[in-house]
Amino acid sequence: MNFGPSQVKYETITCNLCQGKDHKIISKKDRHGFRQQSVICTSCGLIFLNPRMVKDDYDLFYKTDYYRRIVKEYITLHHKSASWRLPNTEQESFDSARSFGLALILRVKKHLQSGLCIEVGSSSGGILAAIRETTGNPVMGIEPSMSECAFAEKLGIPTAQCLFENYVSTKSSAANIFGVQSMNHFLDPKKFFLWAHENLRDDGSLIVVVQNFLTMMEKTRSVRYATQIDHTYMFTPTSLQNFVRSAGFDIILFENWKDKKIKKAGLTTHHMLIVAKKNMHTPFSINSIDPKSFSNDYDLIKRYMLSGFVRAPIKFIKRIYRQITR
Ligand SMILES: [Zn+2]
Repeated sequence: MNFGPSQVKYETITCNLCQGKDHKIISKKDRHGFRQQSVICTSCGLIFLNPRMVKDDYDLFYKTDYYRRIVKEYITLHHKSASWRLPNTEQESFDSARSFGLALILRVKKHLQSGLCIEVGSSSGGILAAIRETTGNPVMGIEPSMSECAFAEKLGIPTAQCLFENYVSTKSSAANIFGVQSMNHFLDPKKFFLWAHENLRDDGSLIVVVQNFLTMMEKTRSVRYATQIDHTYMFTPTSLQNFVRSAGFDIILFENWKDKKIKKAGLTTHHMLIVAKKNMHTPFSINSIDPKSFSNDYDLIKRYMLSGFVRAPIKFIKRIYRQITR
């Protein structure tokens, strides 16, 4: 089974949050060099890849080692002297997630309910291990990767090997639902929120940790370098809160992790945290979108589009230099 970028099929999509068809292009390439366009919806400000690979091609992209290989090549080029690297094994991935989970639970513990904790996109089970250790609650993971599921199960973390849409449960049975660093990868985030609303108890908590697109843009001083082909949707503080409110949740905690203290606490400075509770509204039945969402975020993005245009030749020369000297 091989993934060939020249053979993939693309689809044009409407906005996942507001179904708007109008958008502005913010980047034509992603950080890894793929000709992958990113756009911002002019109605609600949601940022997403469009056109994007069809579902079957995304499946193949992850199942083969193609994705891991291009990420490794990118890291070799851009983090030559840095100690930073991706976890190589499931054990490393588990250890890193567990340590992140321990720090996360310290921040959200008072909002958690007693009972079943489900994590969507639970990988090797590190976050769930941290939840079980610190709260004593039963845990359950949902993870499509067979090898990661098998690793989690070996450590006694119950994990359903499937997409969350296919997970059969007793409705409204979860005390807490976690989505930690997984929302950027969903092909249909609206479906995730609908699923969470249906599977969460009335008093339960939804905990979401997701990358902040604006922080990534500030850190890399570029719009393009804040986008990547596996991040089908990208969220800003405004668009994330728009989504959560529209899905029938009240936000009880929002944190934009930009502070240096966050790093010392074992977390990451380019993510945001939301804790939310279900309200009485049917998901996506009322308009909860801040009308200034698009204009505020797009004004910021435009500044970085301009500076990226000026800096592009310098970046190109630096990249060529790294390639010939590595
Ligand atoms: Zn929209």
